[in-house]
Amino acid sequence: MTKHTETAGQYPVIPLRTEVQLPGHVGPLEIGREASVRAIEAATRDDNLIVIIPQKNPAVRDPGQRDLHEVGVRAEIVQVVKHSPGRFTCVMRFLERVHIDALVAAEPFLVASVSALKPETTATPDAIAATTTKIRDYLLAVVTDAQSREPAKDKDAKDTAAQGNQPKGELTRAQVQAITDPDKLVDAAAPYLELERDDLTALLVEVDTMKRLERVVPSLERQATVLRLKADIGAELEGESSRTHRERVLRDRMRQIQEELGEQDDNAEIDELRKKIEDSKMSDEVRAVAKKQLSRMSQMASSSPEYNIARTYVENLLEIPWNVTTEDRLDVSAARAILEAEHSGLEKVKRRILEFLAVRKLAPNKHGPILLLVGPPGVGKTSLGKSIASSLGRKYVRISLGGVRDEAEVRGHRRTYIGALPGRIVAGLKKAGTMNPVFVLDEIDKLAADMRGDPAAAMLEVLDPEQNKDFVDHYVEVPVDLSKVMFICTANQIDTISQPLLDRMEMVELSGYTSVEKLAIAKNHLLPKQLGEHGIGKEQMELTDEALAEIITSYTREAGVRNLEREIAAVCRGAAVKVAEGTTATITVEKKVLEEMLGPPRFQSDNAERKPEVGVITGLAWTPVGGDIMFIETRVYQGKGEMRLTGQMGDVMKESATAAYSWMRSNAARLGIDSDKIANSDLHIHLPQGAIKKDGPSAGVALTCAIVSSFTKRPIRNDVAITGEIDLRGHALPVGGIKEKVLAAHRAGIKIVFLPERNKKDTLDIPEEVRNQLDFRFMTKIDDALAVALGDPPSTPDPEPAIPPPTAPSRGSVGERLPS
Ligand code: ADP
Repeated sequence: MTKHTETAGQYPVIPLRTEVQLPGHVGPLEIGREASVRAIEAATRDDNLIVIIPQKNPAVRDPGQRDLHEVGVRAEIVQVVKHSPGRFTCVMRFLERVHIDALVAAEPFLVASVSALKPETTATPDAIAATTTKIRDYLLAVVTDAQSREPAKDKDAKDTAAQGNQPKGELTRAQVQAITDPDKLVDAAAPYLELERDDLTALLVEVDTMKRLERVVPSLERQATVLRLKADIGAELEGESSRTHRERVLRDRMRQIQEELGEQDDNAEIDELRKKIEDSKMSDEVRAVAKKQLSRMSQMASSSPEYNIARTYVENLLEIPWNVTTEDRLDVSAARAILEAEHSGLEKVKRRILEFLAVRKLAPNKHGPILLLVGPPGVGKTSLGKSIASSLGRKYVRISLGGVRDEAEVRGHRRTYIGALPGRIVAGLKKAGTMNPVFVLDEIDKLAADMRGDPAAAMLEVLDPEQNKDFVDHYVEVPVDLSKVMFICTANQIDTISQPLLDRMEMVELSGYTSVEKLAIAKNHLLPKQLGEHGIGKEQMELTDEALAEIITSYTREAGVRNLEREIAAVCRGAAVKVAEGTTATITVEKKVLEEMLGPPRFQSDNAERKPEVGVITGLAWTPVGGDIMFIETRVYQGKGEMRLTGQMGDVMKESATAAYSWMRSNAARLGIDSDKIANSDLHIHLPQGAIKKDGPSAGVALTCAIVSSFTKRPIRNDVAITGEIDLRGHALPVGGIKEKVLAAHRAGIKIVFLPERNKKDTLDIPEEVRNQLDFRFMTKIDDALAVALGDPPSTPDPEPAIPPPTAPSRGSVGERLPS
């Protein structure tokens, strides 16, 4: 032992690459480097004493004096365990810090000449004593806790401590109390603090006692605080078996601990979010949820995925415009002015909207009905929604529901999904920035359901005034109040909308436009809009009425004005080039230059090239994109009295064909058809332009006329179009979609339109300019149509084809179809 007391002298050196040891404990040391192995061998041959010095740079292989710190630790080798030749583990007792005066040898191992380290400090003895007492108290708490957790070891520790062989980090209370030297107290505390290498090195090389004390205070204080709080929780939880209660207590305490340790303040991002939450107008309930997320975040590493999920969630909550609303401008006459200015025609619709606004004004707190605007594409449903928003002074958002099959698109994904986000409704609110926008739900008829849930059911909840006050998005989880939103839905048809959804809405129908209406819309709205978008001044370009009318009839065929707007845009682009080139200051676009700008006309009147024909008739169809004419072709050839149907016919239409055939057979004699001929002929009915499936009973009369024409060889007038259902007694029954069908007939250049008598009332809806140009005939029986549509039989009948013809050629070109 006496040897140990004499510090100064020359000792073999072991440089430490990564480890840093402080004195005051016993511990293992791995020895690998050849020079170090020799140093150990030399020491064990002598007095077992050695000096260990940390390297400044762990990467250096053979360190010299410059690579080593000036302070090291003198240690005694207690035991050497040999693993393999050249690999040792040494158990060492680390004695005291020493000053390295010089390296006196480098080969075959380092030898240093060292002297005792003289503690020095500028602090007063009182200050040092006070800090020492504080550290001792903290260390006592930490040591007590460590002992209570490992009682068995504690006993051994006491035994070893009695011998002075204190293993690292296992002091007893008595030992701690016995340490009077402040520097030794620091050395004793260090193993409990889980310090990084740099901190340990700093403790090792620091000669100022006060500075060493201050280095360990914060970390010790923290540990002691955590222990005190843990003890409190233990007391609180004693005898508490309910798991949820335990969890709550623990969470509360966790927050408290973090607050005491000041950890939350470290995170600027969380602070910023907290401030935003405080400043936002969210309800207390939502605020509590947001704050809870913040406290979760403060317990996580900011690089963890959970942290990011929580942050995105809080940001989403902040983006929802909780309690932000705009004030309604309920001025009916101003609203009327806006609607008039932005839309031509649509008188009925505008009136309905104004009534709606007036009711809102008189009963602001009543949930008004939800408007459903139904009509073909391009008739202004969406843009009406926008006008309603501007006349009310509300924000406007629009989402398209077309093809939405997943409930989560409406209602959001649960946050457990990667990349989860709120659904479209909440996204719409975020975009609007207010809780009371005019919210247009486009194409609600195209919502689809599949195994991913039923989006229509979610929409029901959105649109139900009883439920939508507390709409729950799966992502947001807290209820979002949709009751102030003004929903307006649009659809092309109502057949595919579920009945419960339909029941919640009030339908307003918009039908297609006549060419006169289209001309007005184009002149007053579409052209000025497109000129503006192409940067062309009003005075720089003129599009004559004649040219516009030509665009309407020869370049578009549609119920609405979407393609018309596109064609006008194309004209504007052409004009813009000319204006930009500076060749002309003003341009007049006349009908004759349209071909140059838009290419050859895309549509010709379907009837232009037709002549009266046997077995071919013009029927009228209603489709979600507007009315359409359809040609029905029939052919009779030798056979066995059978019927063949081709083309895209729905089941209902096939049944109509069968009924028409039956009626013809039962009335054959009266119609002058030989019953033998029927028995020896097959009938082929074909519907060209097969891409759009046609269905419904409304082709009954037309089918009958075509069949009769085929058997009697009486040609059918090409300027006649017919719609109407039949029964087996030959009555013409009323059908739907009259307005769209008649507009389509008018577009196609038909002169005479046959309608069932009971559809007469529907013609009142038809714009006057169309009514005046058409000859309406109303029928109660098939015979009424036959009498007019069918001409006289030819004097010399055609020879009958013996071989069935191939499937009838399609007469309309593909381009003639309506846009779907
Ligand atoms: P929808 O929603 O019915 O498919 P849009 O609202 O998208 O149709 O209308 C297409 C374009 O036609 C828009 O630019 C719209 O402003 C214009 N439009 C349609 N109807 C009218 C109208 N009656 N008056 C003025 N512009 C109209």
